[in-house]
Amino acid sequence: MANFHALIPAAGSGLRAGEATPKQYRPLNGKPMLWHALQPFRKHSRILRIHVVLGPVDEYFENFDWSEFDPRLQVLRCGGDSRARSVLNGLQAIAAECSPDDRILVHDAARPCLTVADIDRLIAEVGDGEAGGLLAEPVSDTLKRADAHARVLSTEPREQLWRAQTPQMFRHGLLLRALTRSAGLEGITDEASAVEQLGLQPLLVKSSAANLKVTYPEDFRLAEILLRTKSEQS
Ligand code: C5P
Repeated sequence: MANFHALIPAAGSGLRAGEATPKQYRPLNGKPMLWHALQPFRKHSRILRIHVVLGPVDEYFENFDWSEFDPRLQVLRCGGDSRARSVLNGLQAIAAECSPDDRILVHDAARPCLTVADIDRLIAEVGDGEAGGLLAEPVSDTLKRADAHARVLSTEPREQLWRAQTPQMFRHGLLLRALTRSAGLEGITDEASAVEQLGLQPLLVKSSAANLKVTYPEDFRLAEILLRTKSEQS
C-alpha cells in the first residue's frame, strides 16, 4: 500500500513580504508561518512523514521549537535557487525511503491556513488517479490583461480558469521524472505544470480563498484572522 508524505519547500527568501527575515519564519499569532503550514499534516493520520526543505545555510529554523512534530519531521538542508529546484532536491533526498507509488503532497510554507479537511478532500478526490491533482480555486473576479503601465489592454474570459494552490499530490516516481525532465526548471512555478509537460492532466480539487498564499505585507494580518477563526472552530 502506498504511503503519504508531505514535502514542504521552505528555502525561499520571501522578499516580496518586505522584511529581512524570510517570511516562513515571520510570526503569525506567535508562531512562525512554517509551524502553521506543518500543523495540518501533523494532525492528519495518513501522513507518514513531513519533510521540510531548507536552504543549505538557513540560520532561522533552529531558533524555534519543533519537537511536537517528532518523530515524523525530517529536515533536509538541500534547498535550491528556485522553488522547483528545492522540490526536486527534496524528492531526490527522500528517494531511498519512498516507493515510486508513494504519494507526495507538496505544500508551500507560505500557505499557513490549510486544514485537515482540505488534505482529506485532496486525497479522496485524487484517489488512484495516475495524473495526481491539486487544490485550486475557480476564478471569480473579472480578469484584465494590462500593458507595462497598468493600462487595460483587454478583458480575459474567466470561464474554466482556476487559481492553483497547494498541496499538490503526485506519485513520487512521476513527480521526480516530471521535474527532472523540465529542463532548467524555467517557468515551473508549481508541480502540476511539470506533470502537464508529460502530457498528463492533473485533477483540480476545489478549494477556497482561505488557503491563501502569504506574499505581500498586507497578507499577514489576513492570515492571522483566518488562523484565529480556524482555532476557534476546532
Ligand atoms: O516565493 P514563493 O512564495 O513563490 O515560494 C513558494 C514556496 O517555495 C515557499 O514555501 C518558499 O519558501 C519555497 N521556495 C523554496 N526555494 C526557493 C524559493 C521558494 O523552497 N528557492
